[in-house]
Amino acid sequence: MSFVAPPLKRVWGRMSNRGKRHVQYRPHSPLCVPAHIRYNRPMNNRTSGLSAQPNPTNIYVEVIVNVPIRRSFGRGQNAPPAAELPGFDSAGEVEADESSASLQTFHYHLPPELLGSVQPGHLVWVPFGKQTLQGVVVGLADAAPVPTKPIKRLARPQPVLTPAQIELSFWIADYYVAPLSEAVKLFLPPGLLLKNEDDAGVRAKREEVISLRIRPQEIRQSLFGLGKQSKQAQVLEALLAEPEQTLSVAELQIRCDLRTAASLKRLESDGLIRLEGEVARLALSVAESEEALLEMRGAAKYRAVLEALTAADGPLWKSELYALVDTNLAVLRELSEAGLIKMAEKVRFRDPLAGRNYPRTWPLRLTDEQQKVWRAIQSASFAQPEEVTPARFLLHGVTGSGKTEIYLHAIAETLDRNRQAIALVPEIALTPQTVARFAGRFPDRVTVIHSGLSRGERYDVWRQVRDGEIDVVVGPRSALFAPLPRLGLIILDEEHESSYKQDAEAWGSFSVFYDARTVARRLAELTGSSLILGSATPSLEAYTEAVAGGLHLLELPRRVMGHGEERQKAKGDVLSLSKGEGKSGGERDSGPQTADGVRNSQLATRNSQLAPRNSPALYAELPPVEIVDMRQELRANNRSIFSRSLQSELHATLDAQEQAILYLNRRGTNTFVLCRDCGHVEECPRCEVPLTYHERVSVLVCHHCNARYPIPTVCPECESKRIKFFGSGTERIEEAVQEISPRARILRWDADTTGAKGSHEAILARFAAHEADVLVGTQMIAKGLDLPLVTLVGVVSADVGLYLPDFRAPERTFQLLTQVAGRAGRSARGGRVIFQTYKPEHYAVQAAAEHDFAAFYAREMAFRREQGYPPAGRLARLVFWHKKLETVQAQCVQMAAALRHRAGELALPGESFDIIGPVPAFFARHRSFYRWQILLRAPDPARLLRGLDIPFGWRVDVDPMTVL
Ligand code: ADP
Ligand code: ZN
Ligand code: ZN
Repeated sequence: MSFVAPPLKRVWGRMSNRGKRHVQYRPHSPLCVPAHIRYNRPMNNRTSGLSAQPNPTNIYVEVIVNVPIRRSFGRGQNAPPAAELPGFDSAGEVEADESSASLQTFHYHLPPELLGSVQPGHLVWVPFGKQTLQGVVVGLADAAPVPTKPIKRLARPQPVLTPAQIELSFWIADYYVAPLSEAVKLFLPPGLLLKNEDDAGVRAKREEVISLRIRPQEIRQSLFGLGKQSKQAQVLEALLAEPEQTLSVAELQIRCDLRTAASLKRLESDGLIRLEGEVARLALSVAESEEALLEMRGAAKYRAVLEALTAADGPLWKSELYALVDTNLAVLRELSEAGLIKMAEKVRFRDPLAGRNYPRTWPLRLTDEQQKVWRAIQSASFAQPEEVTPARFLLHGVTGSGKTEIYLHAIAETLDRNRQAIALVPEIALTPQTVARFAGRFPDRVTVIHSGLSRGERYDVWRQVRDGEIDVVVGPRSALFAPLPRLGLIILDEEHESSYKQDAEAWGSFSVFYDARTVARRLAELTGSSLILGSATPSLEAYTEAVAGGLHLLELPRRVMGHGEERQKAKGDVLSLSKGEGKSGGERDSGPQTADGVRNSQLATRNSQLAPRNSPALYAELPPVEIVDMRQELRANNRSIFSRSLQSELHATLDAQEQAILYLNRRGTNTFVLCRDCGHVEECPRCEVPLTYHERVSVLVCHHCNARYPIPTVCPECESKRIKFFGSGTERIEEAVQEISPRARILRWDADTTGAKGSHEAILARFAAHEADVLVGTQMIAKGLDLPLVTLVGVVSADVGLYLPDFRAPERTFQLLTQVAGRAGRSARGGRVIFQTYKPEHYAVQAAAEHDFAAFYAREMAFRREQGYPPAGRLARLVFWHKKLETVQAQCVQMAAALRHRAGELALPGESFDIIGPVPAFFARHRSFYRWQILLRAPDPARLLRGLDIPFGWRVDVDPMTVL
């Protein structure tokens, strides 16, 4: 095939002409510089795509180059000095934003040696100006719109993106108005994309693997040939070889080349041989003599290795062997040379689940309700024996209704069809139980991805997944980007969790503030996968979509009585419980839901539901919730942070040797310092947020910037000495529990106690093992805990989150309260929940107490519709950060004007969009940066943003989870 190199007119590859159609120039506004092509890239006329195969006739490739172009300043624009940019702060308070590279597509041609071997998804080195940069091939073409240069070489032999992933990254960049480079990076494990050709990057780890070459029964025999040689050993060996273990001294002298009798004398004095005249014979039994010979030769070190390999019953990695026996490479080499072991270097997979043994589990017999749900999923998605029929479901099941079992069934069917699954869970570090359930059901086919993995582990997981060696990936939102080649099912457990959204509080001018729920829908479409969203408290977005018919709505309204083994125990506990009640009953609050009334009715249910093991699962009641009005408590002169009701329930729980969880909504309830005379609250001077009092170390801490301050003894405002520590952090709750019940063993679970890796699991394991009676914690404990002994959940102040000026505050409060309440009563022991609140009449508190999602949904949707908030409308949030307030304000004014101008260009009618702000963000300062924001409310806010070139310093969040 003839190949003519195209003429090189430019120093580097050029922008594809497709992009140029979208370049706009509006010189009248400093914000309106040429728009970048990345936002408006048409998706349908690209030559890559799902079916693109390498074709020897394609000599051009389209490449996303990893080249730093600031999104704020179009080509030819003058960027301000670096010191002006928050991301390049010289004090280093915010690290220079590594991601300030924006990727664009450029055309190159293939050199002859690469013709036919480059595919979309390949990572390549390309010339770019004077540099050589990495890029990802996103398409092949048989023509280029511009003169091209050749790509230099492949950076990795195999593609790093699947065709579906290429498609999805374009979609993400478009939907979230984000740089394409950042969308692509979501799919690549850290360390893969390199800045220059000398970087090593992440690599597969190679290590020697050692295996036994002989049968275990041959070990002893083989050892005789090893080790130090000596005259004495030779004599022993010669005697052992004789049938009678006897030889004449003369014969021995010849065979063993003995010049003196020293060796024989020595052996005799050691009691190993006897010299009888001219004859030498073994003094000990054959076995004993053999041992002596081995010892003499120093064979113990060889034997240890061989025996470890025998015990392992298979090959061992060198490091594993070193951990088992004290040996070294020299010994291994000798063994290898003697032909007893084999050493071979192999790629070693750094497995995040290594060393964990998950107990094998088997499919449970489904309850009637699970059956019904399962049949619906089966007939929609798994009716064909050979394939997955893509369908989308919202599984709305109360806490403990057995949703996980449904997920596991769906995964099993998917694997049967030779397809693969991703199961997203909100925070994997907090839910080791969840991992165990997946890994235990599908042994050796499951892996996890999470932020706690080392770079090497992440790379290895990614590689194994790409190579098709793993069929189920469990992890938080980023697990969605795992390169499963045959994806067939995506599950999002606890679909309502805001952690599915890229952290909205983080700085990041270029970050993609993607939402895994949204991206999962698109990924399912692109790969023909089914999608199951599950929650006890679905997001309003998902439920609305389900009501409108976009998702199959499946309901599990009743809780499964889990923990069958606990049913047996519960029988005995009925007695002890009733005793406990007799004692403390008198102290209880009376009211419509008296504690006694509830306990008694629960006892009745317990008795009726006790059942032998292995019978079908029974249903359990959701725990009754008592709302305690804390204003009444004050009126009754109870100044404790615990209501009388919660106090007596705590006592009852301890009496029954059961466990309690005390939950604290962290936001806004940290202990703060208040002057009782003038009301002054100590704030961080840089961040303007109240400082938190940390009792243990006696300092005030800013939870925004982590600065520490001494505790004032007098009020800095009025010099009063009446300083009080207010609010109730977990430490204070711990103290208060200790006060009312010194016998209680307490564990705290919050950000302060769980710094170290794995400490979540450690705390949870201790609580599960009943090493503590009371678990005090924040948000973390709301998730996924399923502990049979927990019979009491107390929410210290249920209404705290309601005071935040965020339209999602009631929804978040409802979700949290429902989830927290769901931690109680997981076994036949039943359970009880207390919400303490100053706002007992609020509908979010009321609905959570009644476990009534429908009531909450109806009420909340009415509000959202009225206000045009999601899901009744859509939002984009633009936040600008800078150290100078004037700069922030000026930028905001310009941005608002640019948005109005853009709406005019698009001829959007005034009522169809709304620009709210600019206003200071709720957390107006962060690490000495000012933060202001603009909210854009429109049916498709991204449409307004796409045409704009957005200056550096703006953070763009489409479909924000929070507006604080
Ligand atoms: P959810 O995910 O809906 O909160 P889980 O899947 O955690 O609920 O189930 C709650 C408990 O019920 C678990 O202990 C689980 O093992 C048990 N369970 C679920 N389905 C069944 C079933 N069909 N038979 C017996 N136990 C079940
Ligand atoms: Zn004061
Ligand atoms: Zn601060």
